[in-house]
Amino acid sequence: MAQRLVRKVCKRCGQPYQPTEHEVKSLRLDGAPGDSASYRKGRGCTDCNKTGYRGRMGIFEISVIDDEVRKLIYEKVSATVLRTRARELGMRTLREDGTRKVVAGLTTPDEVIRATVMDID
Ligand SMILES: [Zn+2]
Repeated sequence: MAQRLVRKVCKRCGQPYQPTEHEVKSLRLDGAPGDSASYRKGRGCTDCNKTGYRGRMGIFEISVIDDEVRKLIYEKVSATVLRTRARELGMRTLREDGTRKVVAGLTTPDEVIRATVMDID
């Protein structure tokens, strides 16, 4: 299981925040449920040393490779089919897990993009 650390939005100075177009595209936030999204970003205060972040949390990759997925890989089905099926089985990439935490206002798009920039989706 892969894991990365991202900084958490400071609880004291975290403000509602609208992601930039670049962030929306990078994390595919346009597919996220708009109503329940609560993006937050810290403005910086004495609690967080003016960084806007306080503390860290992990984002995780959850992979489920079961017999069915193994068979699909063996049969060389397209990446799209494989990905769809893996998602149905509960697989999540680092970036997807990070995006959930962004939508919940726990961390920022910036942090997740930075933490997962090396991953090929
Ligand atoms: Zn703060």
